[in-house]
Order: sequence, then C-alpha cells, then structure tokens
Amino acid sequence: MTTIRLRNTMTGRVEEFTPIDPSNVRMYVCGPTVYDRAHLGNARPAVVFDTLFRLLRHAYGADHVVYVRNITDIDDKINARAAETGRSIRDITDETAAWYAEDMASIGNLAPTHQPRATDYVPRMVEMIADLIGKGHAYAAEGHALFAVDSWRDHYGKLSGKSVKDMIAGARVEVAPYKRNPMDFVLWKPSDGDLPGWDSPWGRGRPGWHIECSAMAFDLLGGNFDIHGGGGDLKFPHHENEIAQSRCAHPDAGFARYWLHNEMLLVDGRKMSKSLGNFLTVRDLLDQGVSGGAVRFALLSTHYRKPMDWNAEKRDAAEETLRRWRKVIGGADAGPPDPEVVRVLSDDLNTAGAIAELHRLAAEGRAEALAGSAALLGLAGPEPLGRERAIDPGGEALVGKLVEERAAARKAGDFARADEIRGALTAAGVRINDTAEGSAWEFGPEFDAGKLEEAG
Ligand code: AMP
Ligand code: ZN
Repeated sequence: MTTIRLRNTMTGRVEEFTPIDPSNVRMYVCGPTVYDRAHLGNARPAVVFDTLFRLLRHAYGADHVVYVRNITDIDDKINARAAETGRSIRDITDETAAWYAEDMASIGNLAPTHQPRATDYVPRMVEMIADLIGKGHAYAAEGHALFAVDSWRDHYGKLSGKSVKDMIAGARVEVAPYKRNPMDFVLWKPSDGDLPGWDSPWGRGRPGWHIECSAMAFDLLGGNFDIHGGGGDLKFPHHENEIAQSRCAHPDAGFARYWLHNEMLLVDGRKMSKSLGNFLTVRDLLDQGVSGGAVRFALLSTHYRKPMDWNAEKRDAAEETLRRWRKVIGGADAGPPDPEVVRVLSDDLNTAGAIAELHRLAAEGRAEALAGSAALLGLAGPEPLGRERAIDPGGEALVGKLVEERAAARKAGDFARADEIRGALTAAGVRINDTAEGSAWEFGPEFDAGKLEEAG
C-alpha cells in the first residue's frame, strides 16, 4: 500500500501517516457557520479535506474512514441576521445548511459521514464544561464559564507556536473583570432577552464556539483520533482552545494526532472573507455558468499549504482542460486510479502534482486510467468527465435528510421506517455503508433523484 505522508502543524514536519486503527480512520474538520452562502474561501477547506477523505477511502477502504464536519448553528452573526430580518434562527440555519450541502456537492465533495449541528450537542457541551470545572481547568464567574489557561500553561500555544505571554502581548483579547487571566476564553456565556439560550448550572446561556468542536469530536470520534483539519486562520485561537479543552477533559486520550491546515484563498493579496466584503460565493460562480468541476479543478491546482488567488484565467484554463480530458475519456469506464497519481497525491496531498500526472495520462490517451484518476480527485462527481450526467444539487440535501431520518428511526427502534428509507435510497441508486460509527453514503452511478421524492 502507498504510504501517505502529511505535514503535521503540531510538529512542523511532514510525517508518515499511521492511523490508530486502520479499520476506523477518523478525521474531524471545522465546518461552516451557517448564516449566509459559502464563499470560495470556505470552499477551499471543503475541497482539500474531501480530497484527503477520498485518498484515505482509497487506501483504507470506503467503509473504514469516518469524516466529521460540524455545522455551527449557534453564533452571534446568526443572531444578528435573525434580528435584522425578523426570521427565526432555525429558519436561517436550516436554509443556509441546505445551501451549503448543495453548493459543496456541486463542486464534487462527498457528504461527510457525520455533519453534527451545535444545537443538537448543547447537553454534551454543558457536561464537558462541568467536567472541566470539576478538574480545576475552568471556573464560573458572573453567568459565564471560562477556561483557565494558567491551569494548562505549559501546553497552551503549542500548535500555533506561541507562549501565553506572546499571546497576551499580540492578541486583541477581551479584557473582562470576571477573567482571572485576560487569555481565559469563554466556554459558556449568559443569554438575555430573546437571544437563544439553554438552561445550565451557570444560568440561562449559550456555549462559546470552541467547546462545540471538542464536544462533537469526542462524541463522534472518541478522545483520540487521527486527523483534525481546518483553515490556517483557525489555528489560534480556535484550535488551540479545542486542544486545551479536550486534553484537559480527557487527559489520557491525546485528542487529534495529525493537524492539517489549508492556506487562505486571497483576492488581490488579502484573505477572501465576509467581513472584508471581497468575496465571491460558489453559487455566484455556478450562476455565471462556471462548472462545479472547474471550480474544484482550480482549487486543486494549488497545493493546500500555499496561498492562492482566484482569477478568470484559472477558471477558463480549468474549463478547457476538463473539456479536453472529457474528449480523451469518451465513453470509457473508470479504471483503477493510476499508481503514480496515488503516489503523488499521497505526498502531503500534492494535488498540483496529481493534476500533472492526469495531463500525462491524457497525452498518452489512457482513457480508463484518466477517468479513474480524475474520480480519485473528485473531478468525476456531479459532472462526470466520462458520461455527462448532472446530479440535481437538491439530491444531496434530500439524501442527507433521509439518511438522518433513518438514523433517528433506528435509534428510536422504528426499524420498519428505517428499512423503508434504506429501501428507497437503494432503489434511487444511493450506496449506504453502515459502520459502528454511523452511516456513510455516496451517489452510485445509477443515482436517480426522481425516485427519492416518494420516500421524502
Ligand atoms: P467560517 O464559516 O468562516 O467559520 O469558515 C469555514 C471554513 O472556511 C474554516 O475552515 C475557515 O478556516 C475556512 N476559510 C475561511 N476563509 C477562507 C479563505 N479565504 N481561504 C481559505 N479558507 C478559508
Ligand atoms: Zn472547530
């Protein structure tokens, strides 16, 4: 088997990847905050970690990889959007989460194995915070619960390579009278008025952002798992705080072993972001007639650890290359991916190198190897390079909903309903794999969204 090597932010080195359990390879990636359409910068980690998910599935088997990407549906930006528009929070987050699923599917991303929503995990977060307070790593003050960085001082800052002293000097930390150390961060904060809130030992309130990922990762992947990913902008404070919470709550477990971070997508040298207003949504591009495959191709043509610019030349070159490859493939079926493509991709996810190998296969006219290798990069998803077949983007959201409904039915012991849903999904060409960790699914080549309508 090809050795996968990954650059671990924690050690600063490219390391050989050895899973804790090759029959259960586990990855957690920080997902979107759902209050608006995903922009192209948000699409970058989705595509990067989807490509890693595909490589891991290739190496360890599709049933042996669990990929969790959370949905942050508790956030002050969401609350502000609700206040502005008069819409309910649930309405906004449901709609935005469905948009995200559609947009990410349209650029060739598989649905992660689990997409937990923060609102479903508040009791687990409360439990974890109470445990941290019990262990002396956190304290309650004025309706808040705060993590005490001094209780973890020797370790805090290891991922981002900062000391607590540097951080205090450099960061714009919120100084508050109830904090013991200005670097202490919020685990729980009070909600008054019509802000969403849950009852807790510290009063009615809502969780801070970081605790969400620690609680969900523990619940779905355990205290020790293989890979944790996200954009480089999350290293500090978000990932640093996740590490502090998780390692203090489960001191013997270790949390994530390999930390991977993608670099930023830039516009004229500045990070594409909502707050700078320099963003382009994935939906905008698709509406302009850009194919989802070209968006993905362009994102993959730069290595994930390099900053990249988006521009019209890249878009056009991507469309042109995909057109040429489609011609080479003609009606050929996908064969196994070319070993050179697998080898290059396994070298810290060298997607640019893998694309160069695909160019070679195209030049050699090797249709089946090209089709299979393109599929490994996710370039044969919604717009297959071989047979043209569009998956209705709504299909992904619908399947996701049914898979969740089936899981709920099984949990509730309603096996008749669960089997009915499974039957409908299978009949529509959705492939489902049940594992101890939950159900993974993918569109089979014969997927037919029309057949799902009856089941939903
Ligand atoms: P957010 O919804 O802002 O929390 O971001 C979701 C994901 O997108 C996180 O993993 C961020 O690190 C990532 N992200 C946000 N902006 C960019 C960008 N310009 N380039 C690459 N990744 C980004
Ligand atoms: Zn996170």
